[in-house]
Amino acid sequence: MMESEMFRWPRIVLYDRKAQALGRRHPWVFSGAVRESEVGLCEGDIVDVFSETGQYLATGHYGEGSIAVRIFSFEPVVDLRVMWEERLSEAFQFRRLIGLAVSPETNAYRLVNAEGDGLPGLVIDWYGGTAVFQAHSVGMYQERARVAEALRKVFGSALRAVFDRSASTLHGKLEKARDGYLLGNAPDGPFIRENGLKFRVDWEAGQKTGFFLDQRDNRALLRRYARDREVLNVFCYSGGFTAYAAAGGARSLSSLDSSESALRLARENVAMNNPEGIPHLVFQEDAFKFLGGMQEGAYDLIVLDPPAFSKGPSSRHSAVQAYRRLNQLAIRRIRKNGLIFTFSCSQSVGLELFSGAVTAAAIETGRSIRVLHELSHPPDHPVSIYHAEGRYLKGLVLHVR
Ligand code: SAH
Repeated sequence: MMESEMFRWPRIVLYDRKAQALGRRHPWVFSGAVRESEVGLCEGDIVDVFSETGQYLATGHYGEGSIAVRIFSFEPVVDLRVMWEERLSEAFQFRRLIGLAVSPETNAYRLVNAEGDGLPGLVIDWYGGTAVFQAHSVGMYQERARVAEALRKVFGSALRAVFDRSASTLHGKLEKARDGYLLGNAPDGPFIRENGLKFRVDWEAGQKTGFFLDQRDNRALLRRYARDREVLNVFCYSGGFTAYAAAGGARSLSSLDSSESALRLARENVAMNNPEGIPHLVFQEDAFKFLGGMQEGAYDLIVLDPPAFSKGPSSRHSAVQAYRRLNQLAIRRIRKNGLIFTFSCSQSVGLELFSGAVTAAAIETGRSIRVLHELSHPPDHPVSIYHAEGRYLKGLVLHVR
């Protein structure tokens, strides 16, 4: 192939001393690394990135912010249709390899985890036949028709629908984005199986893409500890942890969320996985207020899985304070020999900082506490070793004496 045919996109040239990160396969090019770019580039345009000496480095989406290019290929991209088929097929094969895409127990998983799959700005979640597409960049949004077509090729008749859930994630970048079906339409039963349990997933109006797949393994762990426990699931959303506690034979179940629609889903999901008919109470309240007024010793297994308290480095400090306060409230009042599953999904609060906040909370209560597990996201949410920023979920299981 002639060189001119291999490099078909507008060019960006980097300062050589700034090109090293790309050599190490870091997927972002910061604007300060750009020496020259072709005139007239628009947000989301595909660009080929070169070194000062004219060596091809990578291909990605151009952006106008501090990240000038989000790299999605380290090889020249000649045909986008072919590329998407290859990349989505590879993502699917990887989920088979880790035992997810072929499991009779679980038919919902993350198919594409942005940078972790070498596709910055793109999340695709698979919900038993429906793929939910979520673009976090204008460039990926512009690929949606090709992505939907490639999904059809890779999954064949197993694919019933592709739903685009990008309106909220592109808010502020592309106001005209609207959620909707790119292929197929709403199925009658929007249900999935996870570790043998059944859940309703609301990808059209629920949070994120509809379900928190990243807690799958942690919910399975909780099931093992739930027998005969009085469980309180704080920030329950669609009731995932509570349903597993029901399946694990808890003595009583309580779910708390501030959102009414979340609690409606939680009620239904717990009922579907509660063959023993364990009593389930739901509370629509602010978590801090509820925990502050909670009776001492009322529960002996508490889950704390709040939304991200920090959206970036500038709110890191206030987030750490919020984690400290939240954990302190639960630690203070949990029954002797209780377990706390405590999480943070703030990307800018690392495990050490989060552990520090929990330790500070423990000290304030004076109780004796041991860490039984350190938790993270499951392997369908892989993190590139060159992109530590992709590690966001961290959790601890505490034993409180
Ligand atoms: N643990 C859930 C995911 C939690 S998402 C799962 O496994 O599916 C965070 C949830 O916290 C959301 O449902 C949101 O409605 C709720 N939330 C946010 N702020 C809250 C507050 N102050 N008090 C109670 N719930 C809150």
